[in-house]
Amino acid sequence: MIEQNLHKITSQIPLDVTLVAVSKTKPNSQIMEVYNAGHRVFGENKVQDMAAKAALLPKDISWHMIGHLQTNKVKYIASFVSLIHGIDSLKLLREVNKRAAQNKRVIDCLLQLHIAQEETKFGLTTNEAKEVLNASIDLENIRITGVMGMASNTSNENQVCDEFRGLKEFALNLNKTMPLITIVSMGMSNDYLTAIKAGSTMVRVGSAIFGKRN
Ligand SMILES: *Cc1c(COP(=O)(O)O)cnc(C)c1O
Repeated sequence: MIEQNLHKITSQIPLDVTLVAVSKTKPNSQIMEVYNAGHRVFGENKVQDMAAKAALLPKDISWHMIGHLQTNKVKYIASFVSLIHGIDSLKLLREVNKRAAQNKRVIDCLLQLHIAQEETKFGLTTNEAKEVLNASIDLENIRITGVMGMASNTSNENQVCDEFRGLKEFALNLNKTMPLITIVSMGMSNDYLTAIKAGSTMVRVGSAIFGKRN
């Protein structure tokens, strides 16, 4: 079933859109089903879970941290994480830079923008994101390669589409002066097709691949 789900989704998304298989709460055996189907990019939202899985699973997996990341936990993933989606403060970015330097690495990061109408979701305003970008110029062990956002949890597809389009437009504008900014991480199981129409370059899909989480 998992493999069929994966094939269905990969057949729906353009080749230049990266699929992050969100494996949070799922066991290594299920991750290996997806791995054995040829997939290599996985997303987790908890530092401890990601570190535990990475230690046991094949080394050619690209691990993406997609959840809210606490500053004091960056050290547990700095040696191997390939992309951090949820940068929402300069303090966090500085910590990632410090831990990346300790590991003699450069870690790619996305700035998380608050695009939903809801209060609950994390993220920067566009002005805050610009401030973080300006202040990040001195940080040699991180690269900001794009933005990430979560749309409102609503069945109103027009609203979701508008939120995604706003994020895409923001990224395109940044790209004019900062050519490294190319990734637009948006779209989950419920809205990845809408996100792709709005210009997503990276979708984060969990339950549509692995089934519902408990
Ligand atoms: C859990 C999660 C996803 C995947 O959610 P699904 O609805 O299961 O596809 C995507 N992005 C983030 C940030 C998540 O926490």
